[in-house]
Amino acid sequence: MTAPHSTQIGPLTLTTWSDGALDIPAAYFPNAYIKAESVRFGANLWQATTGDRVVLIDAGSGMFLKERFAETGQVHDGLGAGGIDPQAVTDIIITHMHADHIGGLVKDGVSAYPQAGIHISADEWGFWTDPDLASKMPEDMAPMIALLQMIAGILADQVIPHDGEADLGDGLRLLPAPGHTPGHCVVEITGGDETVLILGDAVVSGDLQFPNPDVTYQLDANPAQAVATRKALLARIADEGLRFAVTHLPHPGLGRLTRDGDGFVFTPAL
Ligand SMILES: [Zn+2]
Repeated sequence: MTAPHSTQIGPLTLTTWSDGALDIPAAYFPNAYIKAESVRFGANLWQATTGDRVVLIDAGSGMFLKERFAETGQVHDGLGAGGIDPQAVTDIIITHMHADHIGGLVKDGVSAYPQAGIHISADEWGFWTDPDLASKMPEDMAPMIALLQMIAGILADQVIPHDGEADLGDGLRLLPAPGHTPGHCVVEITGGDETVLILGDAVVSGDLQFPNPDVTYQLDANPAQAVATRKALLARIADEGLRFAVTHLPHPGLGRLTRDGDGFVFTPAL
């Protein structure tokens, strides 16, 4: 397992864990020209430690995607083995409910972090837990919906839904950033005089989407909305000189942006 990376944001320690990697078919980027057959994704998740709180931001794939993506679920595999202490986690913030972000919340059929409140957009929670969802979506999404609803059922007692922007205390804010999913959010962390944005899947491939934010992704629920959200976030990051992090960049996926024409150039900033 890749060693975790830590950085300070004022009094808050942000630790980036690698949950592994995924090779995504190039065809999942329908409006990009890609020479290779696949695009390699990292799989970062975060632990924000401040005061008496230990806050996870997303939780990786857990055991649920190993059949298709053998390198996933590494944080889950290491739980209790010198990594994150599951009993010590006080809060979990979820950017969105795809399985590579919430699968790790379940271990052996029960909640992996039983003491934690799980903060999530009410829109996101409502969308995926709708009992009629499968009948409204393409048939090939049925297995994924069944998996997410099974996971959601295990976690329901711990969930704290939030409408719109939410102040979660200790410099942590949940901000709506829809498009990739209906209730996708980013996390804004402010500590001392620094603000850092955790983008989740508002960007999925830095190689493709920093130079051209118009590149869409097959799993975006609303591609046009995802593009608009991505452009607004990347512009803010560049114009305010913020550090930011992305789930699927290579670990640890922390950097800054400068503008370059209609796109952006990424520079690591650890
Ligand atoms: Zn993802």
